[in-house]
Amino acid sequence: MSNGNYIKVILPLRLGWEPVYRVPASLDPGIGTRVRVCFGKGVYTGVVSELNAETEVPPSKILDISSIEDNLPSVTAEEIQLWRFVADYYLCTVGEVYKAAYPAARTEGEEMTVLRMQKKREALGLRLEKRKDSLSRARKDSVKERLSAEIEAIESELRHMDIQDSPVIPSFPRIDLNIHQEAAYKDICTAFKAGKPVLLHGVTGSGKTEIYLKLAARAISEGRSVLYLVPEIALSRQLEQRLGAFFGPLLMTFHSARTQAGKLKIADALRNQPGGIPYVILGTRSAIFLPHRNLGLIIVDEEHDTSYKQSDPAPRYNARETAVVLAGIFKADIILGSATPSLESLYNCKTGKYALAKLEHRYYEGSGADIEIIDTIAEKRKHGMVGSLSRKLLQRISRTLENGGQVAVLRARRAYSPYVQCENCGDIPKCSKCNVTLSYHRDSGRLVCHYCGRSQVFTGICSKCGSNLVTMGAGTQKIEEELSAAFPGVTIARLDSDSARSSAYEKETLEGFASGRIKILVGTQIVTKGFDFKGLALVAAIQADSLSVQDDFRADERALQLLEQFRGRSGRRGMKGLFVIQTSQASHPVYKMLQGLDGDGIGKMMAEREAFGYPPFSRIVNFIFKDYNEPRIEAMSSALAREISRQVHLSVTGPFAPAVDRISNQHIRHIRILVPKDKFQAWNKKQLKDILEAFEKGKNYNGHIAIDVDPI
Ligand code: ADP
Ligand code: ZN
Ligand code: ZN
Repeated sequence: MSNGNYIKVILPLRLGWEPVYRVPASLDPGIGTRVRVCFGKGVYTGVVSELNAETEVPPSKILDISSIEDNLPSVTAEEIQLWRFVADYYLCTVGEVYKAAYPAARTEGEEMTVLRMQKKREALGLRLEKRKDSLSRARKDSVKERLSAEIEAIESELRHMDIQDSPVIPSFPRIDLNIHQEAAYKDICTAFKAGKPVLLHGVTGSGKTEIYLKLAARAISEGRSVLYLVPEIALSRQLEQRLGAFFGPLLMTFHSARTQAGKLKIADALRNQPGGIPYVILGTRSAIFLPHRNLGLIIVDEEHDTSYKQSDPAPRYNARETAVVLAGIFKADIILGSATPSLESLYNCKTGKYALAKLEHRYYEGSGADIEIIDTIAEKRKHGMVGSLSRKLLQRISRTLENGGQVAVLRARRAYSPYVQCENCGDIPKCSKCNVTLSYHRDSGRLVCHYCGRSQVFTGICSKCGSNLVTMGAGTQKIEEELSAAFPGVTIARLDSDSARSSAYEKETLEGFASGRIKILVGTQIVTKGFDFKGLALVAAIQADSLSVQDDFRADERALQLLEQFRGRSGRRGMKGLFVIQTSQASHPVYKMLQGLDGDGIGKMMAEREAFGYPPFSRIVNFIFKDYNEPRIEAMSSALAREISRQVHLSVTGPFAPAVDRISNQHIRHIRILVPKDKFQAWNKKQLKDILEAFEKGKNYNGHIAIDVDPI
């Protein structure tokens, strides 16, 4: 029955339904109001999702809400709408999406509304004065050092807390597009008028950013806000500067690593946005969950990038697809851009869901990089290899340096050696908790597991037979060492997740490379991403074959995207660059595609996917099992696979063990289901979710199985 006093509430839990509460006569919540309620043994801050709720629950069993959280801002109807879509599509609960959008820390910290921020600012100001006073009187160096560090920390916190006073819309610098850009811009505007998302397929350096800026300026002049999504902020500093110079005070940067205060500031600014003043947010994937207002345009830059997908925990959403839905909610325009679009988006162009705009010319004509493939097997035969590097490549590097150019070297494996092996018995040490070989890190003198982080001292002695362990293969650290030996006196730096653990180091390295102080930069995938370095004349991929031998149907697509992106780093601003690929599989089709020798390479890839019924021609729903007990995971995963095959007519693969099938002592199994993109798609997905829920209940096997829709 319906009752004016009953409401439904979204709780931050993995709960497939929204419980009903009674509202005491003295309170008057609306949709989106944050309320405090008891549920089970806990007390939670929930979101009102429905008024005048109907329920079968007898009135005596319905609890009153405890209170309304006046300190917390209400959630907008658009936010709830987006959460519902994400939960529905990615087969998770609305509560899990709420939790992601309002993480616990934020929910707690949120109480720090503007007023409390003000108080905090005053307190910090006082503390700052005191520390400065002490510093002026301190004598010991150690004390001075500590005080200086504290002062710096307080100052940085204060900077993050600065709330913008209502900005006025500045006049933007003029943008003159060239004829190619102009044509693409027109196509884009036409598609927007027809209400279609646009995929902008534009070669590196073709000036996509300029087009985004022009579109953004247009949205803002119409009084509407802009969301500019990028895969990673750390790698987008150049972009941030460019946008900052263009949008001035309208620009806010948002990313997950941002301090709590910084996040609050942005969410607050959006909520308290003075009437009619639009904003521009530059953010990573989770920026789609901000309390947006009046969005007019969404830009998804580098749309092929896998960082847009959250793999763990739920919601396992892809911000690219979710952004399209967000745009729909606001009736905003949306543009996805890349030099190497995903097959998913190209497919959406083929079916007419998206419009395609193209930029085939670089802005600075004559720039771009030629490709040279070096076959390491052939070179070895001719004694053309010095360690991991070919003489040919060394020559290219040395000529580049002589001409004052810079070099970037990609090696996809970090560490010194990816593994070590016993000379005598052939044993290869593995992590005791993971099914993974241990990598040797020379700087720390340790063997490290790249999956769980456990490490042990490298003794050089085989634990099985007592003979010598020798290092095998070359990771980034070894490549760096070999380059140092080949080019003494040349400044070389390394960038990978070992070296970039401190963001200060990363920043310094990127700046050092941009300024030309660092001549050679060695690193993992990170060196292939969106930098624009004027002096970068040569880029080289070492052991490129390691990029495409993974047993994944997307391996070639990924390798092609990575190599093409890397190629785009060199030969900018009218300069001719060179891209050297060192590989033991010189005839691999990916290199032919890269060189454009393969006709329509993408078309072939697409045809292959179609033949196997793989994405983008279907969707994958992955069931991921994790369990410490191996016999149990075997039994459970087999039982669920049987149950699925029995109940739905879909292609079911597995259960199978993934390449790394044990991490931190947890065994892992997958079941993969292909769901055709037909009118039964939503129904099939719902079936799968229901089967899982019934299975978990029936077997009392909770918390071991995750569903991943559109895994990558
Ligand atoms: P993309 O994002 O497509 O890789 P960019 O937007 O970085 O390319 O453009 C490449 C270079 O060309 C940049 O240095 C940019 O400043 C310049 N550029 C592109 N379009 C214009 C334009 N219309 N006017 C001036 N410079 C431009
Ligand atoms: Zn041994
Ligand atoms: Zn491990």
